[in-house]
Amino acid sequence: EPLFQETVRGAGINKYLFEMANIRNQCSWVHADYPEAATEKAEDLVRMAVEKVIRLEPLEETELAVTQTALVIGGGLAGMAAAKNLADQGYPTVLIERTDSLGGNARRLHRTWKGEDVRSRTQALIKEIGSHEGIEVITHAEITSVEGFVGNFTTTITADGEQRTLTHGVTIIATGATELKPTEYLHGEDPRVVTSLELDEMLAADEPRLGEIETCVFIQCVGSRIPERPYCSRVCCTHSVTSALSLKERNPKLTVFVLYRDMRTYGLRENLYQEAREKGVVFVRYEHEKELNVEKSDEGLNISFTDTTLQRRLHIRSDLLVLASAIVRETDDRLSQFFKVPLNEDGFFVEAHVKLRPVDFATDGVFFCGLAHSPQSIDESIAQAQAAA
Ligand code: SF4
Repeated sequence: EPLFQETVRGAGINKYLFEMANIRNQCSWVHADYPEAATEKAEDLVRMAVEKVIRLEPLEETELAVTQTALVIGGGLAGMAAAKNLADQGYPTVLIERTDSLGGNARRLHRTWKGEDVRSRTQALIKEIGSHEGIEVITHAEITSVEGFVGNFTTTITADGEQRTLTHGVTIIATGATELKPTEYLHGEDPRVVTSLELDEMLAADEPRLGEIETCVFIQCVGSRIPERPYCSRVCCTHSVTSALSLKERNPKLTVFVLYRDMRTYGLRENLYQEAREKGVVFVRYEHEKELNVEKSDEGLNISFTDTTLQRRLHIRSDLLVLASAIVRETDDRLSQFFKVPLNEDGFFVEAHVKLRPVDFATDGVFFCGLAHSPQSIDESIAQAQAAA
């Protein structure tokens, strides 16, 4: 419809005098087998459109000044990448973060699937953001109200007990997501059971106990692809394979098992899966509907499950158990109400159109990037942040 309105405008006619009788979609396509009835309906539609257009009044559009500043909500990698991109383009940007520091999940990650050192790059970016004259960073910030519309938003925040009012033309929501804290498989009860991010912290700190283990088991899809959380967390298969390779690199004699439902190392990440197999990592498919038990003993953790291929119970004794835990939404839904933007049933923000407007909301002037939208890898988050900026 906007295209037709433009055509009308090009002919020198007020574009609000346009009305469409859509006889293609509403007659020829849907009633192809009934040409006479379709023609009759088409005539009706045209008559109705003509009657309507006779009564239309021309409208004039008013012009409003646009505040040439941006607000980015969330100081993780995606938020920082978006803020830097906007500021580099010359738009003054305010980056607000709920916690006391920037970096988000990236502060805990070890390496990307391409082998880049996440922590050192995150630190470099934090430094760059901190010294960028086009970016103001406000930590401990909490939004208390939002008013206005595209080009003219007014957001009130409290930061360190003080209230501030920010005026901005656009908003990017980059509030991220978190790793689920599992309550099963002895996590939290036995220090030999860790999540993927906790293993990353051990790898980054070069913990000596990693050199002492002989067997390590990964369990995939912990908290994902279950009735209460049916989605795939997307990054955990690659994360486990990358971590398994890091462990193998330290100690090639280490025995590593990955218990999976489906391996989803998509795209070129498949090469890592091949490499892990070549290096001796054993991938075993487990029946997720049948019991998967973890028990502790002085000798280690006893893991028992049903192998899909053999249809038999298998038992592995392991020194370390890594849970590929789900990525879960942030629990604060107020942003969605403040900016009148929708969440899907899993609690992630929803784009205006999956193909045509993949980083904007239906609300004009409000965009998103990163894990707040969906589970995704660092490179995907940064690409989305740049697209939003
Ligand atoms: Fe399961 Fe792999 Fe999807 Fe994670 S990425 S939810 S481990 S299938």
